Amino acid sequence: MFERRLQEVRKHLETSGLDALLVSHLPHVRYLTGFSGSNGLCVVTLSKQYFLTDNRYREQSKTEIDGFEIVITSDTLLKAARKRGMINGKKKIGFESQYLSVSTFENLKKLFPSASFVSKRSVIETIAAVKEESEIEAIKRAAAITDKVFRKVLLALKPGVRELDIAAEISYWHQRFGADGDAFESIVASGPRGALPHGRATEKRIRKGEFVTLDFGCKCKGYNSDLTRTVAVGPPTERGRKIYRIVLEAQRMAIEATRPGVPARNLDRVARRHIRQKGFGKYFSHSLGHGLGIEIHEPLRLSVKSKDVVRVGNVFTIEPGIYLQGVGGVRIEDDVVVRESGCEVITKSPKELMIL
Ligand code: ZN
Ligand code: ZN
Repeated sequence: MFERRLQEVRKHLETSGLDALLVSHLPHVRYLTGFSGSNGLCVVTLSKQYFLTDNRYREQSKTEIDGFEIVITSDTLLKAARKRGMINGKKKIGFESQYLSVSTFENLKKLFPSASFVSKRSVIETIAAVKEESEIEAIKRAAAITDKVFRKVLLALKPGVRELDIAAEISYWHQRFGADGDAFESIVASGPRGALPHGRATEKRIRKGEFVTLDFGCKCKGYNSDLTRTVAVGPPTERGRKIYRIVLEAQRMAIEATRPGVPARNLDRVARRHIRQKGFGKYFSHSLGHGLGIEIHEPLRLSVKSKDVVRVGNVFTIEPGIYLQGVGGVRIEDDVVVRESGCEVITKSPKELMIL
């Protein structure tokens, strides 16, 4: 049972004067209970915690969850919560407003007419932003698989191969090496398509002399990895080499600057300043990185405007890039965990420019 996580939820209930929290977003349900199925709801009150699901998950919920009262129902989960009296008479109930549909919310108000509902946007996210050692281990396992997949993919990267073929290789090897699957649709962007920071794989064939940006990751036991490498298929242009060098320097500087207590926006600034000084400031068109864990994008934004402060146990990506319209792009992304002494890089794939 995830004691600390539950305690943190209760602390939040107390400080914000709530009587209960409904946790409906499945990755959050999994974070609190360990349940990996596709239908579940948690109700956490000041003294009790319930998990609700349907008949399909009778056995699975028993093996995956302990420490929660498990309710199996053929009703909707909210109706079952009312029948069991989980939040009857409770006055202030928090719910995850980002993840509840309008119709479910209408339903909620009908089922509990005397309660007031408080929109909560980041209760679990805030707790989950500081990883436990077991979670860091899980992310490292996912990252190690992705590193292995990168080595396999290098063997397939040749002139004439389609971007989609490379995306298929990534999915195949992720599963062969023990992941549950891709963490997200892989980005494979070659030549001029590299100027699209989120260029999905297409029918385009890779040509000699092009850069190929590969951005991919896997999900493994509920945790994600996220890696980007840009490699050259045949010798790149002088300009290409220069851009690559600048992005790599910027990325290393941001990693170097990562330690507890640093405002997240400063890390973005370190990388951005370097790229600007080299004359490519306006071509780094996204933020430096994002939190990573049970979801591929989690809080802890590494952006110019971020108000987050880096803490021990945070896991996030560092991924500067330069994108030149009509020409191509370079991005390099690693996953890092923040330690007392600084920053540990979890993804281990080589970063020096590779010319295949
Ligand atoms: Zn990525
Ligand atoms: Zn990323």
